[in-house]
Amino acid sequence: MASTAVHAPVEWHRLPYNYEGCKNIVMPRPLIATIDIAAMQHNLAIAKQHAPAAKVWAIVKANGYGHGLAHAVRGFAAADGLGLIELDGAVRLRELGWQKPILLLEGFFHAEDVALLAQHRVQTAIHCNEQMTMLEQAKLDAPLDVHLKMNSGMNRLGFVPSAFRAAYARLRAMGNVRNISLITHFANAECDDHPQISLTEQVRRFQDGSAGLAGERSLSNSAADLLHPEIATDWVRPGIMLYGGTPGGGTAAEFGLLPAMTLASEIIGVQDIVAADAVGYGSRFVAMHPMKIGVVACGYADGYPRHAPGGTPILVDGVMTRIVGQVSMDMITVDLSPIPNARIGSKVTLWGDGLPIDAVAHAAGTLGYELMCAVAPRVRIVEARTAT
Ligand SMILES: *Cc1c(COP(=O)(O)O)cnc(C)c1O
Repeated sequence: MASTAVHAPVEWHRLPYNYEGCKNIVMPRPLIATIDIAAMQHNLAIAKQHAPAAKVWAIVKANGYGHGLAHAVRGFAAADGLGLIELDGAVRLRELGWQKPILLLEGFFHAEDVALLAQHRVQTAIHCNEQMTMLEQAKLDAPLDVHLKMNSGMNRLGFVPSAFRAAYARLRAMGNVRNISLITHFANAECDDHPQISLTEQVRRFQDGSAGLAGERSLSNSAADLLHPEIATDWVRPGIMLYGGTPGGGTAAEFGLLPAMTLASEIIGVQDIVAADAVGYGSRFVAMHPMKIGVVACGYADGYPRHAPGGTPILVDGVMTRIVGQVSMDMITVDLSPIPNARIGSKVTLWGDGLPIDAVAHAAGTLGYELMCAVAPRVRIVEARTAT
């Protein structure tokens, strides 16, 4: 069937799922995640404005926070490098034509992966002695650029400050190592002065533990980039802000960020109910008075959080209303009282343009990060027409 579809090319990572054989069906369901490349470009420019002297690793782990690596490559074309967790994703970025640096933020997990890094010119974090040993023993055509990671107080990955110099010396002595950069990650950058471990204390530990060691430094995630531009060093590593979500400490509007993803669907059913009628599984919502209920094609199997309570905001025909009742696998039920003209086919926005993902996440007791990353394989991803 001929179509002037706005649909993006098939996303490679989605192919193993069961919809591959259905790719010629243009609109299997009205639920669509629209990706706005121009918004990604805009958000990257904001990250750069906060740290004008720094180079930017645009973070694209988890399939570009759910937006697709192909879109990330275009939206972040002006970044100096792309950082992610997945080696297969790194190889995919090369296939997509990304020529600039790529960084694996957790490094490699198996000895046989080291040669692939050299082959695809992928830089790697080194956070433990086991990785050092694998790197030492690898037979490589070309040496790697590595990023020695310090555990400056988060106690997840990295060498503690007192072990950092010895780790550096061991790397320096390896024939398989070319440049060494120094990195750390913040536990509480969005919080002014965390009583457990403050940003200032992490910066102090990093500076002390790395003093005098040659190499580029990178510290800042989105929260540090937006709220503490003074600590930006040679590189910053923004993630969530590039997609128009925030790490806390302010709203997307306050930071001037635009939503990169709009998850939109349609009303597929309408019920007129009377007082004492209940809606959905468990009959969790009971009407107090006659009202109109809209049924939206989107459920937890699409990545909408099942734990979103009644009252979670949603837009119908651009008007703010609320979900009612239990989120089910394929459907959400909403209160159509504020939109008396709503009917089957009315447009629904789950999040994105006009409804910040952070607002939905807040109502559901989670973060925008989780919502974006959880968009399920059966949700069609298309590109906004406004993309340049
Ligand atoms: C995910 C990640 C980032 C980006 O964090 P945001 O909060 O999304 O900006 C930066 N650095 C590392 C090491 C990460 O894992």
